[in-house]
Amino acid sequence: MFCPFCSNEETKVVDSRLVAGGSQIKRRRECTNCGERFSTYEEAELVMPKIVKSNERREPFDEGKLIASLNVALEKRPVSSEQIENAIQNIKDYIRKIGEREVPSQILGKQVMGQLKELDQVAYVRYASVYEDFQDIKDFADEVSELSKK
Ligand SMILES: [Zn+2]
Repeated sequence: MFCPFCSNEETKVVDSRLVAGGSQIKRRRECTNCGERFSTYEEAELVMPKIVKSNERREPFDEGKLIASLNVALEKRPVSSEQIENAIQNIKDYIRKIGEREVPSQILGKQVMGQLKELDQVAYVRYASVYEDFQDIKDFADEVSELSKK
């Protein structure tokens, strides 16, 4: 591929390793012209099921949207990008392994909550407050006391 810095055609691979639990290969490349380094990721292309919303509309699985919602929940929380990447990978693996062509959005939402619960409890409550559409402060307090029991 072209160098993203100078558009030179030739780059060489200086390092490659397995990431995301072995489902991706990360390659460190160096441009033979300008010497800049960048990474590329290689992953098997697997078809993700469609997501069925509560209003019965079907939408393609949108990884960008998933990443964005995780980032909002995790804003300023002590969670590394690698942990977030792993969580996203786990969510995608889970959705694929269901083996259906369509998956209800609730299943996706539950999976996101499960991952967040393990990553960071503040982020989990943030996400849950939007996703579960907490009606009032009591719902919020219930969720927090549920967490502090553990
Ligand atoms: Zn270059």
